[in-house]
Amino acid sequence: MSSAGILPRAAAPLAALPQVLAERGQREVFCGLTGIIWLHRKMQDAFFLVVGSRTCAHLLQSAAGVMIFAEPRFATAILEERDLAGMADANEELDKVVGRLLARRPEIRLLFLVGSCPSEVIKLDLGRAAQRLNQRHAPAVRVLNWSGSGIETTFTQGEDACLAALVPAMPKLAAGAAPTLLVVGALAEAVEDQLRRLFAALGIGAVQFLPPRRAAELPAVGPRSVFLLAQPFLAATAQALEQRGARRLPAPFPLGAEGTTAWLRAAADAFFVDQRRFAEVTAAAEQRARHALDGFRERLAGKRVFLFPDSQLEVPLARFLSRELGMQLVEVGTPYLHRQHLAEELALLPPGTRLVEGQDVDAQLDRCRAARPDITVCGLGLANPLEAEGLTTKWSIELCFTPIQGYEQAADLAELFTRPLVRRSRLES
Ligand code: SF4
Repeated sequence: MSSAGILPRAAAPLAALPQVLAERGQREVFCGLTGIIWLHRKMQDAFFLVVGSRTCAHLLQSAAGVMIFAEPRFATAILEERDLAGMADANEELDKVVGRLLARRPEIRLLFLVGSCPSEVIKLDLGRAAQRLNQRHAPAVRVLNWSGSGIETTFTQGEDACLAALVPAMPKLAAGAAPTLLVVGALAEAVEDQLRRLFAALGIGAVQFLPPRRAAELPAVGPRSVFLLAQPFLAATAQALEQRGARRLPAPFPLGAEGTTAWLRAAADAFFVDQRRFAEVTAAAEQRARHALDGFRERLAGKRVFLFPDSQLEVPLARFLSRELGMQLVEVGTPYLHRQHLAEELALLPPGTRLVEGQDVDAQLDRCRAARPDITVCGLGLANPLEAEGLTTKWSIELCFTPIQGYEQAADLAELFTRPLVRRSRLES
């Protein structure tokens, strides 16, 4: 790859990683269907058809309840209880539902059949259904499938499963093509535009984003591709890209001024951007971001934060909160710790940080109550009871809905943690 004009980059040594406490017990997380709420906003000609139960339909409706669309781009095909003998009919019904949907919504170019966890859905082979429907509706519509089942670890795995399903559909990068950079992970359009401008200023022109905004813009991939993960929960997608020959650039994640600079530097180094040009492009934006954080740092420095395992964003977030805002990390939980993808982040955590992988929710609640942190980052299901006990909480799912990556968003990310503290102090005054 280096002969192709891309510099290999050494990953942080795994031996240097801190001790991690592994917990197994009851978990308290949303399922992967939740990802549809932000993915459908990003992919503008895609439709997400959940094959599931009434529970799945309710989850999606309530999670998306705050958004009003004339024509939402997700729906649930409800599969009632049926035995194996009824599965042939289920396939026929699914084909009819898809046929009606595509006839009514001719703008759809990409249809995801999204599996769920009820037993009647598990009996249905959605991979084969997608292949069958793809043959029927291609080339106008591509049909793919992934699972948002709650049996998986956590809700952000829905995005990972969706992007991993897109990888085999990506065209092959031509052998003689210039090396390309893929940015992987759903980002808000404003963030994507800012990053695109920064990469262009660095002279890295061949940048593409996965997922793309439109199905026809699915980027090509091959051994001359390198990729930067924009989200820390994309293990399956990274693996699928590596199987297509692409190489991951090890880097921290683009949260905060420091994280964004280090993330951009990984790309700059791979594309031989010289240090002076890198500084010219990033220094002012980094300085602005640091300056914007000053006021938040005054409010947050010394405050104690406890992160429950929920979104897999916990480790980069903890690094940002401690290093750029001076917060104290009581405990950093994460549902799953990808030691390689997070190696650069883990190396930046303060020594002795209590890292917990997995969940035993009761034990964790006990530790949280005993520690009485100033702010607790957790899922919706834990937030209300903890608030009722006088603890201040931040919903971790908001970090997936809100643009938080990049220089311009560093202060917005800090504000997400300031707001609940201000609200609590108003309630108590
Ligand atoms: S996929 Fe499973 S966990 Fe998610 S809403 Fe449906 S039934 Fe519930």
